[in-house]
Amino acid sequence: MSPVYAVRGADILVPAGAELAALAEAAGDGPWRGLSSAGAFDAAGATPAGGAPADATPAAIAGVSDRFMLPVSTGAMGGAAEGGLVLSFAKDAEPPAGWEWRPLRNAVQNMPERGWAPAARAMAYANWRASSRYCGRCGGPNAELGAEAGRRCPACGAVSFPRISPAILAVVKKDGKLLLARNAQNASGFWSLIAGFVEPGETFEDCVRREVKEEVGIEVEALGYLGSQPWPFPDQLMLGFEARWASGELAPDGVEIAEAGWFGPEALPPIPRVGSLSRRLIDAALGLG
Ligand SMILES: [Zn+2]
Repeated sequence: MSPVYAVRGADILVPAGAELAALAEAAGDGPWRGLSSAGAFDAAGATPAGGAPADATPAAIAGVSDRFMLPVSTGAMGGAAEGGLVLSFAKDAEPPAGWEWRPLRNAVQNMPERGWAPAARAMAYANWRASSRYCGRCGGPNAELGAEAGRRCPACGAVSFPRISPAILAVVKKDGKLLLARNAQNASGFWSLIAGFVEPGETFEDCVRREVKEEVGIEVEALGYLGSQPWPFPDQLMLGFEARWASGELAPDGVEIAEAGWFGPEALPPIPRVGSLSRRLIDAALGLG
């Protein structure tokens, strides 16, 4: 049976009270299916499992605002060559009996990447579809493109594809220590890598230099690529880059960054939980994990 991913904004549908870490290794053909919501619906995702009216149609699932087939992927991220059905629910939709909505971010922090990546991919497509119902050029209702996962405007012909917003994570080192900063807006209190969105006309290396300069006031030399991770909140692709301190003293901007410092593995502040690329890069940079 193909996976079914039920999403509602940044939430995924999981069995009520489920331990997310356990779901990652749960039933199905592989851990990547751990967050499939297939059990909540019949095989076609057309009706809630059990108790569905005999004449139920796909539209009969209360609160479903969009349903589509996830394209087959051969990407390594989820290791999934299979597509699946995505049921996208409206903002206030109630879950089927015995199931509950859970922020995908919780899964990111509680299971291996391969456990949540396919659900994240489903969510990214659902997010994009929800925000591309109308043509960005002329404002008319968009139509499906057909075999490809895109939209085409029947009125003006504009074609659009799922949007991906690249953002860099800067692994900046100086004398063997790593630059970590505490974001002024983030209530988590975690210290993490300098991050920021790539702007039009920039290379990734330009972005690394600009973001570090803007946020903490130092000049760095961008060295090379370290890895990437799709991050569907709502559509980022995080790209890790190594960089070397070149000049200047840390001077947090006070707007985005409240505090910044150089850290070794022996005296770390609170850092992001496992699951994110930022944590993976921090661990690698400091020889942890
Ligand atoms: Zn148009």
